[in-house]
Amino acid sequence: MGCCADNVKKFEYFADRDLSYAFDSLTGVLKREEIIGYVNSLISEGKAFTFGIADIDNFKTVNDTYGHVRGDAALRSMAEYLCKTFAGKGVIGRYGGDEFMLVLEGCSEYKDIWALGHAVNMDIGSVRTEGCRELSMTITMGMCRYPIDAHSYNDLLKLADKALYRGKMKGRNCFIIYLEEKHKDININDIIERKYSGMHLCSRVFTYLTSSGDIAEAIDILFRRIVSYFMVDHICIETRGGMHFQVIHKLSKQREFCKLDYDEVISLLNNAGLAYFNRMASLRDEDYGPVIKQMKDSQISSGVYCKIQAFGNEYGYIRVDMTDTVRIWQQDEINVIIIAANTIGLMLYYQGRTIEEMPQTQPVFIGGEE
Ligand code: GH3
Ligand code: MG
Repeated sequence: MGCCADNVKKFEYFADRDLSYAFDSLTGVLKREEIIGYVNSLISEGKAFTFGIADIDNFKTVNDTYGHVRGDAALRSMAEYLCKTFAGKGVIGRYGGDEFMLVLEGCSEYKDIWALGHAVNMDIGSVRTEGCRELSMTITMGMCRYPIDAHSYNDLLKLADKALYRGKMKGRNCFIIYLEEKHKDININDIIERKYSGMHLCSRVFTYLTSSGDIAEAIDILFRRIVSYFMVDHICIETRGGMHFQVIHKLSKQREFCKLDYDEVISLLNNAGLAYFNRMASLRDEDYGPVIKQMKDSQISSGVYCKIQAFGNEYGYIRVDMTDTVRIWQQDEINVIIIAANTIGLMLYYQGRTIEEMPQTQPVFIGGEE
């Protein structure tokens, strides 16, 4: 019997069922067919519920780093965590691979689903796997509701998948509750977009910047694209202003950017002028010094910092921060920031300008959160 057998029995559909073969042998959660049977039964009785797909973020890296045996153990610990977290509220199944299914019977209020999703994202980093002590996993969840969004298992699966895809594009470690007005046009079959989005974006970054005669305007367009595409909380260009960074150009959810100590930030950059942090809260202050403390105090949860430079000249930094959510930066996203910083550096070099000569733009406040 699986780790969630006791919980499953609490739901009427499973109470009298023979569950001898109902559980996935690796993870101990329900098999996919059991979830499908359950969903169909809820639909035939007209009972409201939420259906979700949860996919572990960057799970391939877990296998690559620790091997498949430990990867299996990591899948089990994630399954156990999900069962424990949703005990009494719903049941968990395995769709396949690193994807889990979730059915929350009787729960279809947006705010209730939101609270559950939020609790998972806040807590998920605490899941531990034996033999991989330092491994910290996250998941992205896509959810939709019966009968609000769809009326069959297949349609619910499609919508949960759209929401999941949106969450992956948004940077992972998050949950998206399907809303028709926001998500109906998402095309998950767009394999090319999925595979090459980062490359396309890099080439577009280059084009935005180099095709405009006005560098300040070009940066503005670029930042808007990055903010909407990656859904980041803030992005800015900073230069040295006395002891602190001075913000030259910004798009932000917050009106005020926290000021970070210049020398401290520089000490974090690697030789290429890049530093990024996925999970600020898990970093030890002793290892990274006072600047990490400053970032944590300013509620920065993850960030990318990249030097704007060309031919040995330094012009400033691009800084991208997240505050509300921890973002697991993808290589694609980091590449985009590197390309942007290098292209801006080259433009300034060839124009013989400093970044301070650029007209300072009005700070723009990003409203209308998703
Ligand atoms: P993403 O954040 O986009 O989900 O990235 P990902 O690396 O998790 O990509 P994806 O979900 O496509 O890959 C799932 C990986 O899970 C592929 C495979 O290596 C691994 N996997 C699938 N089933 C098992 C399993 O039973 N055991 C182990 N150890 N790994 C599995
Ligand atoms: Mg995955």
